Amino acid sequence: MTNSTENKPVRFAKKSLGQNFLVDKNVVANIILAAGIVEGERVLEIGPGTGLLTCALLEAGAKVVAIEKDDELCKRLKREFAENEDFTLIEADALEVDFIELSEKYATRLKVVSNLPYNISGPVMAKFLENYRAFSGFILMLQKEVAQRFAATSGTKACGILSVLIRAYGSARMLFDVSPNSFKPRPKVTSTVVGITLFEDSAIPIGDDALYPVLRQVVRAAFGQRRKTLLNALKALGCEPEVLTDALASVDIDPKRRGETLSFEEFLNLAKELSGKVPVVS
Ligand code: SAM
Repeated sequence: MTNSTENKPVRFAKKSLGQNFLVDKNVVANIILAAGIVEGERVLEIGPGTGLLTCALLEAGAKVVAIEKDDELCKRLKREFAENEDFTLIEADALEVDFIELSEKYATRLKVVSNLPYNISGPVMAKFLENYRAFSGFILMLQKEVAQRFAATSGTKACGILSVLIRAYGSARMLFDVSPNSFKPRPKVTSTVVGITLFEDSAIPIGDDALYPVLRQVVRAAFGQRRKTLLNALKALGCEPEVLTDALASVDIDPKRRGETLSFEEFLNLAKELSGKVPVVS
């Protein structure tokens, strides 16, 4: 199977949609290898673009559901894959799609394999985590700096909100770097392919849907004001200061520490302690 990217130049890349198209077949082959596609497996691709990765996924035996926001690219993809019954295109913004509904429709958990649009990689990852039960795992191409953040361990400079939240359900591993020369147009930054494995016995047990929103709020508050002490930063949660002081004391965390120094386990213990005591916002 060939793909139009190999024959046609990309004349129309839209910066606002993070359009840097993969043109290096070796990189595509390495992504497919990392994804370990099983014949007939349902794969979700966010932003298929000109379809080079899509084509390789189909060749590897995947049944691909792709979400593309760009109308022009949707027309091109429909022409390209019209004959292929293993390809389904959803013409939409990936941030608006109901992933649980999609997983239920196909009666399976989806493996995400994507060269993500870099401008929405954070919000998309946050949405993946909110809907973790729709997914079996992730192979994602990201801007290197973002990949480092996803895979960072607690207490390091790169650690951020998503580094901690990913740990609730699994772990992220940086797999390999990809040079700007592998894309058209050429981006300014190096990219990295990251693998995210979801654990069966995750830190937040499957089905405990009340704890994750509390953890998310605690982590956001702690990282939202990095220079403040943990106690002051957590005031953004909107509960009485005594509730915070008591919770911190009962999980043995010094209120004068900064949020970014907390380990994942400390965040989790604090979230458990504050569960039911802080207003939850979606
Ligand atoms: N997968 C292709 C490749 O590897 O060459 C394209 C990757 S390009 C980095 C990102 C793609 O995501 C583009 O096709 C872009 O139009 C699409 N995109 C951008 N924002 C999107 C969104 N919110 N929802 C769905 N697709 C989006």
